[in-house]
Amino acid sequence: MKKYNFNAGPSILPKETVENTIKAIENFAGTGLGLMEVSHRSKEFQAVVDETVALFKELLNIPEGYSVLFLGGGASLEFCMVPYNLLEKKAAYLNTGTWANKAQKEAKLFGEVVEVASSKEANYTYIPKNYAIPADVDYFHITTNNTIFGTEIHTDINSPVTLVADMSSDIFSRPVDVSKYGLIYGGAQKNLAPAGVTFVIVKEDILGKVSRPIPTMLDYRTHIKDGSMFNTPPVLPIYAAMQTLKWLKALGGVEEMYKRNKEKAGLLYDEIDRNKLFKGTTAIEDRSLMNICFVMNEEYQSLEAEFYQFATSRGMVGIKGHRSVGGFRASTYNALPKEDVVALIKTMQEFEKTH
Ligand SMILES: *Cc1c(COP(=O)(O)O)cnc(C)c1O
Repeated sequence: MKKYNFNAGPSILPKETVENTIKAIENFAGTGLGLMEVSHRSKEFQAVVDETVALFKELLNIPEGYSVLFLGGGASLEFCMVPYNLLEKKAAYLNTGTWANKAQKEAKLFGEVVEVASSKEANYTYIPKNYAIPADVDYFHITTNNTIFGTEIHTDINSPVTLVADMSSDIFSRPVDVSKYGLIYGGAQKNLAPAGVTFVIVKEDILGKVSRPIPTMLDYRTHIKDGSMFNTPPVLPIYAAMQTLKWLKALGGVEEMYKRNKEKAGLLYDEIDRNKLFKGTTAIEDRSLMNICFVMNEEYQSLEAEFYQFATSRGMVGIKGHRSVGGFRASTYNALPKEDVVALIKTMQEFEKTH
């Protein structure tokens, strides 16, 4: 049976990424050796890193003065690396969910943290809007897409201080004005590659300003200087990321992705709003284009397990909501075809007919 992969992460990748990575695992760049069995310092792999950096710069229109890094440790290590490298006295954080909270927690180990706003009291169902960013902080940290709660900051905000963003689950889903950010980071396993590589886009001139000593591996300047080759980088996920970006470029880049993502999410949200059995969980203007959360309407609450089983029997995978929200979550990342969203909608409609 065909499976429809709505997993939140690790999640669906373009089939080109998977197929081309399999080929490289067997015979990498005509070397007669497998991708997992060659030196990361070989000229063939250096070419992969160079091309992946070039694709990041081209597709996101990254200005001069920024470096693109491929590191280990996941977005979770960035929660600590960001304050390690940038927080001298005080930083500001916007609290929009579980990941934003975790980021903030690490920063508190390094200095004072100002929480400028939070939607915690409403179980993170919206993005706070009218907050003031203090002028005396070293940086302001946001999470652009809240993977668990299904909310998203849809535009690049103007910040009077260095803006730092966790874009783990919406990088390459829409055009981004990188010049508005000092640092963007994320784990690759949502919208880009298999787990194992973390991307960092950093404006070089924001570094070197804190007085504390920084361990070599945790200092962004180490990885800038050595082109992500200070130690052995995650070779296979970087190769897969390159394949995903080639696929994305051939389809028309982030503008085209944004168009497709709006269309896919629009179809599913329309069905959630129309179908008598379901309702959305977040403020409409903050609805994520990547993670679409919904629950049963009050009077149909008892049907939750039954719908889950019904959808599973139709090949839907990964639609269980995170335990902190309940209900359902369909992740509609770049690689998920529109037909798969349509199949989920049909499943919801069929289930509605029988109740
Ligand atoms: C998944 C996720 C993380 C955690 O990423 P890891 O690579 O597992 O550390 C952090 N932030 C956001 C927004 C996420 O979706």
